[in-house]
Amino acid sequence: MVDLLGQYDKIQEQVDSKILEVVKSGAYINGPEVHNFQKELENYLGVKNVIPCANGTDALQIAMMGLGLKPGDEVITVDFTFAATVEVIALLQLTPVLVDVEKDTFNMNIEALKKAITPKTKAIVPVHLFGQCANMEAILEVANKHNLFVIEDTAQAIGASYTFKNGTKKKAGTIGNVGTTSFFPSKNLGCYGDGGAIFTNDDELAHTLRGMVNHGMYKRYYHDVVGVNSRLDSIQAAILNLKLPHLDAYCDARRKAARYYNNAFKNEQNIVTPKMGNGCNFICDTCDCHVFHQYTIQVLNGKRNELHQHLLDNGIPNAIYYPVALHSQKAYSDSRYKEEDFKVTNELIDTVLSLPMHTELDNEQLDFITKTILDFIK
Ligand SMILES: *Cc1c(COP(=O)(O)O)cnc(C)c1O
Repeated sequence: MVDLLGQYDKIQEQVDSKILEVVKSGAYINGPEVHNFQKELENYLGVKNVIPCANGTDALQIAMMGLGLKPGDEVITVDFTFAATVEVIALLQLTPVLVDVEKDTFNMNIEALKKAITPKTKAIVPVHLFGQCANMEAILEVANKHNLFVIEDTAQAIGASYTFKNGTKKKAGTIGNVGTTSFFPSKNLGCYGDGGAIFTNDDELAHTLRGMVNHGMYKRYYHDVVGVNSRLDSIQAAILNLKLPHLDAYCDARRKAARYYNNAFKNEQNIVTPKMGNGCNFICDTCDCHVFHQYTIQVLNGKRNELHQHLLDNGIPNAIYYPVALHSQKAYSDSRYKEEDFKVTNELIDTVLSLPMHTELDNEQLDFITKTILDFIK
């Protein structure tokens, strides 16, 4: 699905010498590399504060702690996503409220969001799934009307942009009260271990979060709030400092592969290719609405599982993201949920298939992948 070594090959010399430099510096946690990375990422995103932390799951948890959410508060998120999002809501003893997604974009369904709001609702967590922003304009409208926090899970969409109707353009993760991301190796900006970050334009919240990631300390050994141990290693920050300048090129390479796929499948009725939200018809060279963390098709002829196996048999990696809806997971099932409220997710788990998507795909590989798929589907 990814070619991390192929990507490493191209920056190997710099990475190797930088890692050695960090080892010899003796500053392994929160050293100068972490501080530099924080500043560089703030510049790249156009956000006032980046708070690096240990991983994308912690980033979500700490963001919710920083906003002061309390047990019993309801937090609305989507049924169709990676479990980390709902996991931290449950861990903090908040009440997760799952809602259905849109079939076109795989992102939060706004009507379902509106329906799920109660007097206990405190926050909305849109997940920018597969690399494209949820409908943030509508989500902000709902949040403003009901006085709710918006926490953007940007683990899959760093580098993507969102354009409002009035033309204002913002980077994913900098639109709501707070945004979170992950630098897990296979993410669009991946380090060589675990890493994550929180973004916010709210300076007061940023101050709270900076202490929370480090045991609630604002002054060494004075613990003002309950915190956690969630810091970014200097080695990972050094790698991210080397990779951040390539992020836009990495996203372009992914979009190029996406265009190839789109074009190959455009006349095949049994394959639905990814749709762009936000009025964008994409695929122009400069469009940065979608950064294709995943390229996910819907297989309509009922043969998704067969195609999945056929591709594996031909040495083509592919995966089902996600095979089980969160409301059907043992850990997160709840008698409050009604199946008819999750029609789209229940359908997607039977039809979606994610194809190889990374920065190193070449036309020969794409040709082989698409031909193998089309030969099978026809
Ligand atoms: C990867 C991911 C996370 C968690 O990130 P980690 O760094 O692995 O903890 C959270 N949400 C989504 C949508 C993700 O894809």
